[in-house]
Amino acid sequence: MSAIPVGRLDELEAYAQSVAGCTRCRLSQGRTQVVFGSGNPKADLMFVGEAPGFHEDKQGVPFVGQAGKLLERLLAGIGLQRSDVYVANVLKCRPPGNRDPQPDEIESCESHLFRQIELIEPRIVATLGNFATKLLSGRPLGITRVHGQEQEATLGSRTVVLYPLYHPAAALYTPAMLKVLESDFARLPELLGRGVEPPPPLPELALVAAPEQPAEQLGLF
Ligand code: URA
Repeated sequence: MSAIPVGRLDELEAYAQSVAGCTRCRLSQGRTQVVFGSGNPKADLMFVGEAPGFHEDKQGVPFVGQAGKLLERLLAGIGLQRSDVYVANVLKCRPPGNRDPQPDEIESCESHLFRQIELIEPRIVATLGNFATKLLSGRPLGITRVHGQEQEATLGSRTVVLYPLYHPAAALYTPAMLKVLESDFARLPELLGRGVEPPPPLPELALVAAPEQPAEQLGLF
């Protein structure tokens, strides 16, 4: 039996359906479909990329191309699968020719992402690349400056740990960036464990009273 209130899942599904017909910006004209997001709707860890590309637009699922394969490989490296996490993008519709998102498109689309985060209630939001990082941190600092540095962020009604990462598409062609992405990824289990794992038990030895030392010996340290 699921421990989460059914209402929240229903609400996410209902919200996805309402976004499927979105015409808030010009990208609605060229899309095959809205790419809302996919994965575990109650995930502790959510990834936010940039925008759907060619394959995502056709299949209606984020990160199904080469960058998605790398994301899956990185997840496998920390013992996770796509079905353990939730994956979405800043923009829900494909920009023509995969060009960069434009500021007015981001502005039109951002409330979809904020509502998604509110409904999924992740503890960690890993932003992939500059667009997601700048939008969700509310700061202009680029990914090269802030990758791997977790920070607290209040997104809508929710306080989460924001964890900026290089975008897998960028790392695909830059081995040095891939190394950094792998090592930033390796910290995710620790971040996920934070505040959940009980503190480790005290080692046996620490429970045994140390023999009393003569006071003057303290001076040695
Ligand atoms: N790049 C993204 O940012 N998102 C996708 O869904 C695919 C590639």
